[in-house]
Amino acid sequence: MTASLATVAYIGATILFILSLGGLSNPETARRGNLFGIIGMAIAVLATVLGPRVTPGGYAWIIGALVVGGSIGLYAAKTVQMTQMPELVALMHSLVGLAASLVGYASYVDTSTVFPTPAEKAIHEVEIYVGILIGAVTFSGSIIAFGKLSGKIGGKPLLLPARHWLNLVGLLVVIWFGREFLHAETIQAGMTPLIVMTVVALLFGVHMVMAIGGADMPVVVSMLNSYSGWAAAATGFMLSNDLLIVTGALVGSSGAILSYIMCRAMNRNFISVIAGGFGTGSGAPAAGAGGAAQPAGEVSPISAVETAELLKDAKNVIIVPGYGMAVAQAQHTVFEITKMLRERGVNVRFGIHPVAGRMPGHMNVLLAEAKVPYDVVLEMDEINEDFPQTDVSMVIGANDIVNPAAQDDPTSPIAGMPVLEVWKARTSIVMKRSMASGYAGVDNPLFYKDNNRMLFGDAKKMLDEVQAALKA
Ligand code: NDP
Repeated sequence: MTASLATVAYIGATILFILSLGGLSNPETARRGNLFGIIGMAIAVLATVLGPRVTPGGYAWIIGALVVGGSIGLYAAKTVQMTQMPELVALMHSLVGLAASLVGYASYVDTSTVFPTPAEKAIHEVEIYVGILIGAVTFSGSIIAFGKLSGKIGGKPLLLPARHWLNLVGLLVVIWFGREFLHAETIQAGMTPLIVMTVVALLFGVHMVMAIGGADMPVVVSMLNSYSGWAAAATGFMLSNDLLIVTGALVGSSGAILSYIMCRAMNRNFISVIAGGFGTGSGAPAAGAGGAAQPAGEVSPISAVETAELLKDAKNVIIVPGYGMAVAQAQHTVFEITKMLRERGVNVRFGIHPVAGRMPGHMNVLLAEAKVPYDVVLEMDEINEDFPQTDVSMVIGANDIVNPAAQDDPTSPIAGMPVLEVWKARTSIVMKRSMASGYAGVDNPLFYKDNNRMLFGDAKKMLDEVQAALKA
């Protein structure tokens, strides 16, 4: 393939990636968006492999790498549970970071490129230094995020004394060694500053994500998504590959926009998220995700049959799904119940919190999979004012996103986070297995409210019983 044909293919792939991102912004066009992305990526890979910069001797390596990487990817995609997706995504981000760092080292030791001027050589070295830096931060930060999302590392933030000073010192060390690196006469001399910077960047990535509390993890996921994009863009600069630069920038900027949306959803500003600590503040006790909460009053249990009676008599119902619905894989039964109630003339709608579940859009994906019509699935801002006119709000495996302490208790670790006001409905029903806390590890006063009922049990099992009672 000639260089100009490869360039045309790259432009085509870029346009497809932009169309793909546009499509993914809406559930109804997401499938088409995905298709554009797949076609764009296929074109990009083919144009690169068949392009002028790959010599025939390289094909065996490329095919070998494709077979190994493709098989691992295929296996992971086939075996991963939907609830493990966020961890998988974090792991994928770490690989992008690792790749950027390795490409950086490879470009540095590669002596085959001759630079016509010292300025061009210096620019290339800056690209290498920055690329390895971003890659290393992304790599170690994503590994820690993987640990936190999979529960292997606790959600409690690690708040080292003088942690902001530590970060500042790290930054100064990186700048100082950057200067050393650019002034190095030989590759051997440049290696020491490069390795020191890499170690500092790895430590910074660990420290940054360790300092972030449980409730801020959604922002971390989207932020690392953005970093992985910038790491790919940096790789593009190092390899002088325009498509990789553009694609990386698209991922980087869309991840940054997602981080902004997540911050707004949690009423937080980005800098304070990075500074860490939110999600396990000093005021209220934080039990740790899934930990047993301190009993703070009496709860009123309800049976599946009684729940079905309440639903039958209701005119307006709002269903609020959360992480527990994903764990129980209860979305299909939710859809069946919705269908039955709608046939009876009940107005059933869904209220989706932006950070429900464990990844952005988690609930929308599950409900779309179960074929719940999009027009009854509403964002938190669109539905929150309707709870006072609602007969029954049914919370399915959600906890933090319906916690009134976020509004009522300024000392709560999640104070200020917008929540779905389910307790304003005539009756709220919370479906979960126990009194355990949610991801942020905070007790939930909703459970003790007079108009709240607890339907204890696995969400799928309970909903099956509700469905059976509705049929009867
Ligand atoms: P939570 O984690 O707050 O609560 C989920 C609840 O589901 C738990 O209290 C659990 O209680 C219950 N549950 C678990 N399994 C089942 C089951 N099989 N059947 C019934 N209930 C079950 O989830 P939310 O969706 O309310 O909130 C999301 C949280 O995750 C927020 O704190 C958010 O910040 C965080 N987060 C979100 C990310 C995102 O991008 N969306 C990423 C990372 C973190 P029990 O054990 O008693 O059943």
